[in-house]
Amino acid sequence: MSHAKAKPAPAPIPAVDLQAQYRRLKPAIDRRIQRVLEHGRFVLGPEVAEFEEALARYAGARHCVGVSSGTDALMIAMMAERIGRGDAVFMPAYSFRATAEVPVRLGATPVFVDIEPGTLNIDAGDLERRIELVKREGRLNPRAIVAVDLFGLPAAYEALAPVAERSGLSLLADAAQSFGARLGNRQVGSLAPTTAVSFYPSKPLGGYGDGGALLTDDAERAAKFRALRQHGAGPDRIEVLAIGINGRLDTLQAAVLLAKLEAFGDELRQRQRVADAYDRHFTGRIETQSRPKGRASALAQYAILIEDRDRVKATLAADGIGSAIYYHRPLHLEPPLLRFGPGPGALPVAEATAKRNLCLPMHADLDDSQIDRVAEAVLAAVKP
Ligand SMILES: *Cc1c(COP(=O)(O)O)cnc(C)c1O
Repeated sequence: MSHAKAKPAPAPIPAVDLQAQYRRLKPAIDRRIQRVLEHGRFVLGPEVAEFEEALARYAGARHCVGVSSGTDALMIAMMAERIGRGDAVFMPAYSFRATAEVPVRLGATPVFVDIEPGTLNIDAGDLERRIELVKREGRLNPRAIVAVDLFGLPAAYEALAPVAERSGLSLLADAAQSFGARLGNRQVGSLAPTTAVSFYPSKPLGGYGDGGALLTDDAERAAKFRALRQHGAGPDRIEVLAIGINGRLDTLQAAVLLAKLEAFGDELRQRQRVADAYDRHFTGRIETQSRPKGRASALAQYAILIEDRDRVKATLAADGIGSAIYYHRPLHLEPPLLRFGPGPGALPVAEATAKRNLCLPMHADLDDSQIDRVAEAVLAAVKP
């Protein structure tokens, strides 16, 4: 038997580490799940209302409605606004495909808007131009703006709200990636009239399966959301008020999320520690998504923007370092969305970002030596 003198390969560093989080939170999570198994109220059990209250309190919103996913949160929000055929829904061209999928499924037309370099969020100036264009053409009815808080960074709601107001459009926050983030001292959930959140496992506040929520200050709107998530049923669950969907948050997911919410504030601080450490390595050397002052990101992702991205990703993978590409293409260039325009070359920042982005490992359980190893591997792989 040979005794290899080579150093053992260091342990792989996954992009997201849900196992490490479970080891840390196991007693609280197990206790919560056990309680649900014992009372057996798996659909709209007591944990759902308890979680809705806790989430609303955290976000500083009056009402929270737990739903089956972030996608269904967007769906229910748009159904409540009766968005459908002939309507234009404005959104950044750079987002997860669910943002565009929902209005298309409702028969509406997504209108793609370019993003700002730096924050990578929707560009309010380009948004205004495209709203004017649609109005002038007179073919579609401008109805809604969906702001996406990309990678956890809140969009520029202070600029978007006046645009929505002036043009008579509703403003919906796709906060699937940003629960826990802040704009000034306002929490995500109180930055727009309606906010859609996702609890997909890898989001900053993630369940153990699909889940989502809607947040609003408007009691009437919250009542509509409650009806729509339950096949349109009224509070007595007898009368049908509207054509809805099966869109409820599972009791088991609410139980897991209640346990995770306890640790969430601390996890956000840990994510901030990781991002600050990456920043120290990269500032002046590698472009990253910017995080303007007064805008506290939930840091769903830490994105770098580099040339030759695919080669760097492969080099990291060979070193056991996970990374992810969000996204390979901007929405307007995805084949099923091409027909909505505006075609290749029209949204240059979104198109360039899709070629250059790479998201590095980001979670609360990364330690300093892992962060250093990732950053050094990135710096070595990126050609000066
Ligand atoms: C994850 C995500 C969604 C969809 O959330 P699900 O819970 O997976 O349905 C929507 N929009 C954005 C921007 C997302 O990142």
